[in-house]
Amino acid sequence: MKQRLSILGSTGSIGVQTLDIVAENPELFEVTSLVAGRNWELLARQAIEFDVDSVVIGDESKYDALKEALASYPIKVYAGSDAICQVVASSEVDVVVNALVGYAGLHPTIAAIEAGKKLALANKESLVVGGDLVMRLAEQKRVPILPIDSEHSAIFQSLAGEKSPVRRLIVTCSGGALRDVPMSELADVTPQRALKHPQWSMGAKITIDSATLVNKGFEVIEAHWLFGMPAQKIDVLIHPQSIVHSMVEFEDGAIKAQLGTPDMHMPISYALMFPYRASRPQERFDFLKNPTLTFSEPDRVKYPALDIAYECMRRGGNAACVMNGSNEVAVTAFLAGKCRFTEITASIEYALTKSTFVEKPTLRDYELSNEESRALAAEYLKLK
Ligand code: NDP
Repeated sequence: MKQRLSILGSTGSIGVQTLDIVAENPELFEVTSLVAGRNWELLARQAIEFDVDSVVIGDESKYDALKEALASYPIKVYAGSDAICQVVASSEVDVVVNALVGYAGLHPTIAAIEAGKKLALANKESLVVGGDLVMRLAEQKRVPILPIDSEHSAIFQSLAGEKSPVRRLIVTCSGGALRDVPMSELADVTPQRALKHPQWSMGAKITIDSATLVNKGFEVIEAHWLFGMPAQKIDVLIHPQSIVHSMVEFEDGAIKAQLGTPDMHMPISYALMFPYRASRPQERFDFLKNPTLTFSEPDRVKYPALDIAYECMRRGGNAACVMNGSNEVAVTAFLAGKCRFTEITASIEYALTKSTFVEKPTLRDYELSNEESRALAAEYLKLK
């Protein structure tokens, strides 16, 4: 039987690549619903091509244009964040692919799990903000969460079939677009420069998060929740070639890694087809053409965001939610030319100092904390 998918964030980098996998495997998948934020033109084209039942546009001001574009098709059209949670929970959906960006992914993640849907998760912010709630709920509902993030997919693949304790997880990191830029020049880096990631082609927010290493900090938090590992057993190594996607070290000294060319189609297809693998016309990694794979320690002075993430894990409660909310505001400001690159991390530090700490947050507490941390970042950056 075909798996029926709801793809959230279908117009984004991960969403489009997920649709590639669907198109390559029509006997395995069909798409029930698609969700996007603002790009109604692409959403309409995707909806027609994949013959979906329903679409949701997050930005309600785009509803009329989308409705008009789909007027001659039997496709239901909705708008707004509540509608996203409703389509996710539909009885016509087996698997939810959450490829939304940012905090906007949290409620749909929870709605998918509440409804008992298998979750293929790219939206790491769901786990950064509310990992405790999400994982507890997934356990209660016995819902599998299959990671799409390449590092977590690599760890997941390395853990497959293992029954013995893990000594540590090693999360690899390309170093981002500014890896070779001296610290003294970071304050003057332009958005265009920071968006030039050496290995991966991704959405704007994660590309900036990669340049600040906020993304790597988030991935450590994500690994902590997904694999139940304490922070002190998760290490980060800079690996500029992005071929070793991450590793697991066991107590007998064995280290298992997953390698491959930097292409998100692989982890996406693995999450959708697990425990099977896709047969794809993919570029193959050639060891002889790439004989040198290098590793080094991240520069924690140049990139304080990594230690901030570890500190958020040590504090627990809503600390990582504050890191996420303030980061989202600062990244948007940086991309709009309203703050310097170095002010992104400074905004996070300011928000963490000023925010209200909640030790055991509920979903409502996370909502309030997200709002407070966003307001604090805006205050720090003097945004109107
Ligand atoms: P993009 O910015 O490319 O895409 C984000 C998607 O989310 C778009 O479809 C966008 O719609 C939609 N969206 C944003 N806000 C809303 C909203 N409020 N309501 C509804 N839809 C919304 O991001 P990526 O694909 O790069 O990343 C998605 C997630 O996957 C992130 O959490 C990221 O960290 C993670 N990830 C991404 C990787 C990559 O290679 N790109 C690798 C590993 C993880 P629209 O464009 O129409 O506005």
